Order: sequence, then C-alpha cells, then structure tokens
Amino acid sequence: MRNSVPSHGTEWNPIVITPHSGRHFLQIPGPTNVPDRVLQAIARPTIDHRGPEFAELAIHLMDKLKPVFGTGGPVVIYPSSGTGAWEAALVNTLSPGDRVLAFETGHFASLWREMAERLGLAVEFVPGDWRRGVDPAAVADRLAADTAHTIAAVMVVHNETSTGVTSRIPEIRAAVDAADHPALLLVDTISSLGSIDYRHDAWGVDVTVGCSQKGLMLPPGLGFNAISEKALAARQSALLPKSYWDWTPILTANERGFYPYTPTTNLLYGLREALLILEEEGLPNVFARHSRHAAATRAAVHGWGLEILCADPREYSGVLTAVLLGPEYDADKVRRIILDRFDMSLGAGLGKLAGRVFRIGHLGSYNDLMLAGTLAGVQMGLQLAGVTVDPAGLQAALDLLRAE
Ligand SMILES: *Cc1c(COP(=O)(O)O)cnc(C)c1O
Repeated sequence: MRNSVPSHGTEWNPIVITPHSGRHFLQIPGPTNVPDRVLQAIARPTIDHRGPEFAELAIHLMDKLKPVFGTGGPVVIYPSSGTGAWEAALVNTLSPGDRVLAFETGHFASLWREMAERLGLAVEFVPGDWRRGVDPAAVADRLAADTAHTIAAVMVVHNETSTGVTSRIPEIRAAVDAADHPALLLVDTISSLGSIDYRHDAWGVDVTVGCSQKGLMLPPGLGFNAISEKALAARQSALLPKSYWDWTPILTANERGFYPYTPTTNLLYGLREALLILEEEGLPNVFARHSRHAAATRAAVHGWGLEILCADPREYSGVLTAVLLGPEYDADKVRRIILDRFDMSLGAGLGKLAGRVFRIGHLGSYNDLMLAGTLAGVQMGLQLAGVTVDPAGLQAALDLLRAE
C-alpha cells in the first residue's frame, strides 16, 4: 500500500481503513495520470494479433503516431519501457567502437551514456552541471574539431526529466549543420512527446526515442523509434548485435499491420484512445496548456521564495518543475509528508540530486484545478516540513491560471 496505513499484523482487521478517499494525486513526471477513457479502452478483450482486426488497428496507429512525432516516416512500436527504445536507437544505427557525442544534462542523459558504453560505443561525454541543457555551441565546437568525421552520432535528451530542463533541438541541429558534419542526431523525447513541441522531420532528427507513460497518458509498456531516411540507410552498415530490437523484421511485418512477435494488444487499444484524445484537443493546444501550467508552477515556486533547478529560462521545461531546496532541508522529507498527509506523489531527486530536489510533474491528462490542488498540497507540505515559504506563492499561481 502506498500510504502509511498503521500495521495491525497479518490478520485482517476491519478497523483498518484507507486514510485517504478520493483520487491519489500522481504528480511525478511519469508515469502520469491515465484518463478513464484510456483505461476503459485497455480493458477490451485481447484479439488475435495475426488477424485482420489487429492489422487494421496497427496500421491506424502507425499512421496516427506520425503527427505526434512530426514525421512522415516510419515509427516502430516496441513492447518495452523507454530504456528498450534507447537501446533500439543505438543498435540499429551504430557499430562497435563507433564514437558518439553525448552531454551530461542529468540523470537520464547519464544512464543513456552508460548504456552506450556497455554496448561497446566510445562515448565522448561533455560534462555539465545538471542545471542546463545541451549547449549548441559545444555541439558545434566538438563536431568542427572532428575533421575526420569519426563521430557517428550525437545523443541528446530533449526534456531531461531529472532536472526540468529542455534542450533546444533546432539550435542543436543548426550546430550540426554549421559544422557540416554527417553525424546522426539521436533524440530522447521520452518525457516531452505529446507535451512539448517536437518535430522529427523539420528538425532533422534521425532517431526519436519515445515511450508511453509520460505525455501519451498511457501505462508503462510501449517504446517508440521514429526513424529518418538517413537512419534507415545507416542500419545497412550498423554492426552492433541485435535481434529483438532489429528494425528490419519489424518494418517488414508492419507493412501488413503485423509484428514478428506478440504485440501488447491492450496497450495499443489504449494508444488509439490516447491519440484520439490528443487529436481532439489539438497538439498546439496541448503544448500551450503544458507551458501555461509550467508558468503557473514557476510563479508559485518563485512566490514561495524557492529556487528552480533549471538555470536558463530559455530551457524551462513545460512538463515538470524541479525545485531546489537549501542544504538545511531534506527534499525527501517534504515528499514523504506530502504523500502521508495529502496522498500526493511528487518526483524524487535522482542521482546526485537525491534529497536536494523534488520534482512537480504537470503533464499528461491534467487541468487547472488539478494544478491548483497540486500546488496547494506542495505549499502545505513545505510548511509542515518546516521550509520557510511565502504563502503568496500559491496565490501567484492562481492569479496566473485565472488571468488566461
Ligand atoms: C522516464 C525516462 C526514461 C526512462 O524510461 P523508462 O520507461 O523508465 O525506461 C528515459 N529518458 C527520459 C528523459 C525519461 O524521462
């Protein structure tokens, strides 16, 4: 049980009741709240994944996913978490010993780098302070210095979920072009897809990595690769070992609406519904809603007199806000109090930010009053934890929500 129900031994005790009624507030930056429509869609009976009804579903999904990635090219769907889709992006395009350029923007960028090293790639890891995104000038410098063109790929996390920092992909693309360098551009959009503006084709990305449980409002279990022509061509000479993740048999089976293994049929029902929900609201409106909620959250944090981890306002994340507490406070204690008292889960500080930071997720299936409730819970939790905050913070957020 996620909340602190007092233990009364192993015997069933009718006096023990759940101390919270109503809905749990799941305000971590993924998994996010799954809309009832999506849950109901997932509950439909599983069908024959080699039959005509499945093929129709799969072809429909491959088509409807394209606008979400901003691509006209193929999108491979894996029964995996985002980490699996990371691996797929690397093994399908690269060979053992290939040099890749990556950037220490935070915990997820560090994990992707470790994976690349374990796979036998030679990672050039540009250090960072976990408060900034990828510096386009650093991309330009590193690539310009590589006159022999030995760097095979540039790996970028679009929205660094551990820090609430969004890297500027169009500027990074421009930096690659300015260096006139042929490296592939591989981008992790796991926590930005369907929440922050993103354009695979227009921004010249070669492989875009996504997954289901963040902006797409689904449970965990689907990973995605959107693939450019250039990445499809790179596949021909990519020698990293691969079998399950190999694009080729999947793309071949996909032509007729099938997969070379049993797909996650029920999650695909959910995906169909989630894509419909995004289409009904309209992607530009979805992006605007996220940035408005992010602005209201920042108004609260600044109003409280606390610090936002992201150091560059051009890189503020639309989907989560990481709050940095002073060294005299324990961010995990704040989160524990908020969970116990108000039944709300907030994101923990990850890696070297453990205990220093808590993260407020404001993405996915979300609205103004959910945000108002979230921020009220955070403000009360901070006060209960003994963190000095100005209660004008919540009001500043409400004023912003009311104004627009
Ligand atoms: C959540 C996340 C991941 C990891 O995805 P899993 O589904 O947990 O494997 C990777 N990158 C980013 C940016 C994420 O937010």
